[in-house]
Parts: sequence; structure tokens; C-alpha cells
Amino acid sequence: MPTENTLSIIKPDATKRNLTGLINAKFEKAGLKIIAQKRLHLSKEMAEKFYEVHKERPFYNDLVDFMISGPVIVQVLRGENAVKLNRDVMGATNPVEADTGTIRKEFAESIEANSVHGSDSLENANLEISFFFAGIELSI
Ligand code: ADP
Ligand code: MG
Repeated sequence: MPTENTLSIIKPDATKRNLTGLINAKFEKAGLKIIAQKRLHLSKEMAEKFYEVHKERPFYNDLVDFMISGPVIVQVLRGENAVKLNRDVMGATNPVEADTGTIRKEFAESIEANSVHGSDSLENANLEISFFFAGIELSI
């Protein structure tokens, strides 16, 4: 299986409730290595740009406001099939539909405040990683 990097964001609902460590433990238990990580407070411009693909969706403005409502942790996770593996560990977008043991099932507050973002393809992972990290930060 190929080793991949994927972008994860621990969202403001989770940083507010001090869940960073518990969420990171889920990644590590699943075999994902946290190879880069930093805490940021996104500007409106950054959040709008990051979620540009959802611009036409009815929840876009609320999503941007939510993502700038507190600090986030942006991180690069590495492992075999990391993109898909991370999506499995995260669980479904709507916590009501998420499987038992997933991050969203255990921690999400709502379909919007759902604790984590994860890239949905290898192509998007590479784009999203370069949005937040310089090459030198990933040189391990
Ligand atoms: P995912 O994060 O599982 O890849 P999407 O890419 O479809 O889900 O949506 C991006 C984010 O937008 C979600 O994680 C969630 O925070 C928010 N979102 C998605 N659907 C809704 C919705 N119906 N109402 C409110 N917020 C939503
Ligand atoms: Mg998505």
C-alpha cells in the first residue's frame, strides 16, 4: 500500500473543548503519524479560500464564520493509504451517520461543528498541504 500524506484540521469546536490530544490519539492509534502540526487562527480570507470549492453551497458563509470562531490545528498525517484511512477515522460528515468509534461520532457537535477536516483525495491532499505548509516543514 502506498505511503501518503493528507491534510487534517482540528476545527474550532474541538480546540475550544481541549480535544486536540484525544483526537490526535485516535490518529496515532490508527497508525497515522503526525508529521507536521501548528495552531492557527484563520483569517476570513484564508477560510474563504480554503473552502472555495463549497462557495455555491448554502452553508458556505456559516462554515467560514465557524472556521474563524476560534483556533484550529492544521496538521499533516502520514501513513499507508493515509487519505482514505483518515476519512475512516473521522467518520461521516454528519455525526448522526458516523460509525461508532470515529472522531465525529464521539466528539462532533453538529453537521457543521464536526471537529475535523480531512482531505478527500490525494490530489486535494497535496493542494491543501501546500496551502498551509512550506516544503521545509515537511522535510522529514
Ligand atoms: P467533509 O468535511 O466530510 O468532507 P464536506 O466537504 O461535504 O464534508 O463539507 C465541508 C464541511 O462543511 C463539513 O465538514 C461541515 O463542517 C460543513 N457542512 C457540510 N454539510 C453541511 C450542511 N448540510 N450544513 C452545515 N454545514 C455543513
Ligand atoms: Mg470535504
